[in-house]
Amino acid sequence: MPSTLLSRRDLDFLLHDWLRVSQLVERPRYAEHSRETFDDALDLAERVATEQFAPHNRAADLAEPTFDGQRVRLIPQVRAALDSFAETGLLTAGLDSSVGGLQLPHAVAAACFAWFQAANVATSAYPFLTLGNANLLLAHGSAEQVDTYVRPMLDGRFFGTMCLSEPHAGSSLADITTRAEPQSDGSYRLFGTKMWISGGDHELAENIVHLVLARIPGAPPGVKGISLFIVPKVLVGADGSLGERNDVVLAGLNHKMGFRGTTNTLLSFGDGGHTPGGRPGAVGQLVGPPHQGLAQMFHMMNEARIGVGAGATALGYTGYLKSLAYARERPQGRPVGAKDPATPQVPIIDHPDVRRMLLAQKSYVEGALALVLYCARLLDEQRTAPAEADRERAHLLLDVLTPITKSWPSQWCLTANDLAIQVLGGAGYTRDHDVEQHYRDNRLNPIHEGTHGIQALDLLGRKMTMQGGAGLTLLTTTIEDTIERARKAGGEAADLADRLAETVDRVTSVTARLWADGDLVLALANASAYLEAVGHVVIAWMWLEQVLALPPEGTGDAFHAGKRQAARYFFAVELPRTGPQFDLLDSRDRTTLDMRPDWF
Ligand SMILES: Cc1cc2nc3c(=O)[nH]c(=O)nc-3n(C[C@H](O)[C@H](O)[C@H](O)COP(=O)(O)OP(=O)(O)OC[C@H]3O[C@@H](n4cnc5c(N)ncnc54)[C@H](O)[C@@H]3O)c2cc1C
Repeated sequence: MPSTLLSRRDLDFLLHDWLRVSQLVERPRYAEHSRETFDDALDLAERVATEQFAPHNRAADLAEPTFDGQRVRLIPQVRAALDSFAETGLLTAGLDSSVGGLQLPHAVAAACFAWFQAANVATSAYPFLTLGNANLLLAHGSAEQVDTYVRPMLDGRFFGTMCLSEPHAGSSLADITTRAEPQSDGSYRLFGTKMWISGGDHELAENIVHLVLARIPGAPPGVKGISLFIVPKVLVGADGSLGERNDVVLAGLNHKMGFRGTTNTLLSFGDGGHTPGGRPGAVGQLVGPPHQGLAQMFHMMNEARIGVGAGATALGYTGYLKSLAYARERPQGRPVGAKDPATPQVPIIDHPDVRRMLLAQKSYVEGALALVLYCARLLDEQRTAPAEADRERAHLLLDVLTPITKSWPSQWCLTANDLAIQVLGGAGYTRDHDVEQHYRDNRLNPIHEGTHGIQALDLLGRKMTMQGGAGLTLLTTTIEDTIERARKAGGEAADLADRLAETVDRVTSVTARLWADGDLVLALANASAYLEAVGHVVIAWMWLEQVLALPPEGTGDAFHAGKRQAARYFFAVELPRTGPQFDLLDSRDRTTLDMRPDWF
């Protein structure tokens, strides 16, 4: 039985036939690896995700975490799955061997992680948050901080969180008010409230390492006055032993629509619930220099945001495969024109409208997976390309693609989940099938790690204009390289290339038009339409890249034919959606801008 989590065939196609990850083993960082070690890691991820994560996905959703005022309780399967995950060693898949990492390419690690995200996105959030935290400290922490906090996290003994948001400051982190008062011994005491903190409390690990954004009194206002602190739930001694309970208190759990197996918390820092050293105040350590907190966070943001896109993709993918399996089995109705009720019913996949819904899902989730893995491959280029110019190029392209890689899967793989429900009909609307949960779980992704609207402002307001428009130029010339190759390949690829070229020209002309008179407010008023249109162009590019990696037309098997048909679908049905969006942007439409709050 093929897996209904992800398609290994698709992963192998993307990683090997297209992205040629095996060539990376020629670089010193990956010299210990081979196609076999990549395959082994993927096999392991699929097995543990299938056996340990998928079985309690529904149970963790139905029995969400509870807090009795003292302890947070989760179903026991979560802990068991996380112990199995720790044993795989995959937490450190992409990390340096100097910290015990496997030094796998990012592209392979991202493919491994996608299995866990597809199987159980809520349980997998604990290690992935921990990894984000560890990565940040590896990049910016001192050697002592790495020894004290990162090593136990990588060993699976401590878990980590990211504490940015506050009740009044989510999108606008410039307005956070948590304060960090310097102490005579070089430490800090933190006071404030953090909202929405995933994994903020539980008993799944010996300790929880919170990474907290806060202001030191006298710091400059706004984002330039935010610093980053390590605040452990339990204080850690110089010898690594656990000491006093720190003054970080769970004020309450949030009860969510989906992602329920991940605790989501309101945390109070320094309200006197505990008194380390005999007085209130959460003991924290500064990471790096003061006032660099947001810049440090943003350093890791590309990876975190690609991780969100990967999670959205994985949820869309598994929903697609489950609805596909259902459509093959479910008998209902007869073909148009077959009027005889004595003839047997056909499986619903025989109805063109059901195939439309499956093809739409396929084009979204496989297009999104291609983008996620392409970006992960860019992370590998950024880190290991022999020439500095190539590393810089990868860095810039990744910067431009990040808001799209975060947002496009979050929007369209959610739509895929919506279609998966529709394919199941009434059954899709019940809790007897997984697809409704995948939709609820996936609904978070356009909200966290920067909302859809904030990503749109980032793409149009920053990424497309930075370095005098170098990011935009790099994106369009990179797509044009693909177009050139497709034209040379001829046949259907050349036809698709011509259609893509028209939309790429519009990205360039519309961007220039939006910024022509420097009217920032008007330019950004329709930023979401811009994000969505450019996102569709980028996914069409990903489909053309995949077509170029296929064997010649008329050869290959059903997998290859399906890829080609999904590409055709995306170009025939989806890419033309960008026309009206570009028209709207070109006209510098003022409708939303001119709408006044009192007219609603
Ligand atoms: C389940 C869950 C888990 C989370 N986990 C974490 C975590 O682990 N750590 C953490 O720090 N945070 C976490 N968050 C917080 C998350 O990042 C924020 O919810 C998000 O940044 C949005 O902030 P907000 O909820 O305050 O909404 P707001 O910022 O109030 O936004 C509300 C709406 O207004 C729009 N908006 C706001 N400002 C602008 C603007 N300038 N221009 C245009 N539109 C705007 C937004 O796009 C959005 O549609 C989590 C949230 C949830 C729901």
